[in-house]
Amino acid sequence: MSRDTNSRWPGFFKLSIPERISQLAQRAGLDEADLRFLSQGEHLPQHTADHMIENCIGTFELPLGLAMNLRVDSTDRLVPMAIEEPSVLAGLSKAARYLRQGPGISTNVTVPLMIGQVQLMGVPELDRAKQRVLDAKPELLALANTLDPKLIAVGGGARDLEVRILPSEGEDDPVGTMFVVHIIVDVRDAMGANAVNTMAEHLAPRLEELTGGRARLRILSNLADRRLVVARGQVPVSKLGSNGDPNVGADIAQGVMEASVFAERDPYRAATHNKGIMNGIDAVLIALGQDWRAVESGAHAFAARSGRYRALSRWRVRDGVLHGEVELPLAVGTVGGIIESHPAVRAAFAILDIHSAAELASVAAAVGLAQNLAALIALATVGIQHGHMRLHARKIGLALGAAEEELGPLTEELQRRGRIDSETAAAVLAELRGSRG
Ligand code: NAD
Repeated sequence: MSRDTNSRWPGFFKLSIPERISQLAQRAGLDEADLRFLSQGEHLPQHTADHMIENCIGTFELPLGLAMNLRVDSTDRLVPMAIEEPSVLAGLSKAARYLRQGPGISTNVTVPLMIGQVQLMGVPELDRAKQRVLDAKPELLALANTLDPKLIAVGGGARDLEVRILPSEGEDDPVGTMFVVHIIVDVRDAMGANAVNTMAEHLAPRLEELTGGRARLRILSNLADRRLVVARGQVPVSKLGSNGDPNVGADIAQGVMEASVFAERDPYRAATHNKGIMNGIDAVLIALGQDWRAVESGAHAFAARSGRYRALSRWRVRDGVLHGEVELPLAVGTVGGIIESHPAVRAAFAILDIHSAAELASVAAAVGLAQNLAALIALATVGIQHGHMRLHARKIGLALGAAEEELGPLTEELQRRGRIDSETAAAVLAELRGSRG
């Protein structure tokens, strides 16, 4: 079935879940298996789960939603997101609408280079050992490249070796100087941990011979700072805000820039700023079966690369346009992991319609940028609780047994009273029902 390539689907949020699935089926060209998963909730079979982890006792679910309006590198994307937090999808879809004006979000992705580390202890003659390892680079890379013929066949493989000497930190240092070898591997469409770990483990005995040291850790680094993505977007200031008033737009843009500079200067703010970026990125990564812990640790380590923890994004107003940029490492894959074995992940890949790790990284970074804009607009204007509280009020209403048509008036009245709790909601619901007789 052909796909509707537009991600702007006004009114989607007003539909019921079956209506949304039916629209998705028609417009995104999903196959039978993906539709079965979505419409019948055919989730991860227990026997598959049992092979994935130890001591398995079941599976665990999260809401799966669809973010709208995102345009990345001139292509519209419907983005599946698995998340329990309210407001994330609504905020993202709204900010993506702002960002699709003009050229939309553009991204740059580096070559997917991952780093494996081999730690060597007790190396005598550090400088000579370093020279011996560097002289043996062609032999070591050739050895690493015997291990993964599939990776070589798709154009990846070990590319370089580096030596780092981590000096002893003084008299109290319990272990002394460390000799660390980095192996740098182009992992193509894989996240790369298994591929890189295998190489690191395999090189270790030869590195022991070359250095005279004892190999200890042989493992991937999650600070994937050779595998970066930058996403850039812009919004004309006049388009910000809902009423078209240019002064309102200018004030929102100024607020976003002030919020950005706050996070650039202050680690306390940067931690929450970056959490807002990761709200979107993690939800995409979870829906697409990625190792989000790996991306999280990489993102935060990258944010602290200057020695101080900083914002991953920055926003500036120039010539009547709000410009934003986010940069972070994104170790994601379209092969390996649980990608082929998890029905929800297969459906998410079909919806997103991406075919390479680079495309997935671009979409994830673009989501991070739009999510960041959504949070900063809310924070710089009405505050984050406004949207949260509306959804919270709906949740309370549903728990009290309110019917769909009662939820709108109920949430409005609770917000008007500024009291969103079960007791007030029960009273308001009784009043609403009473006034209808
Ligand atoms: P993998 O080993 O399952 O798949 C990668 C392999 O697929 C490659 O080595 C290659 O042989 C093959 N392949 C086929 N087509 C390819 C293509 N187009 N591009 C690249 N490779 C292709 O997975 P992986 O990505 O090496 O490892 C990811 C898994 O490792 C994740 O599940 C992650 O959770 C886990 N892990 C992570 C860490 C960490 O982050 N520190 C540590 C250990 C394990």
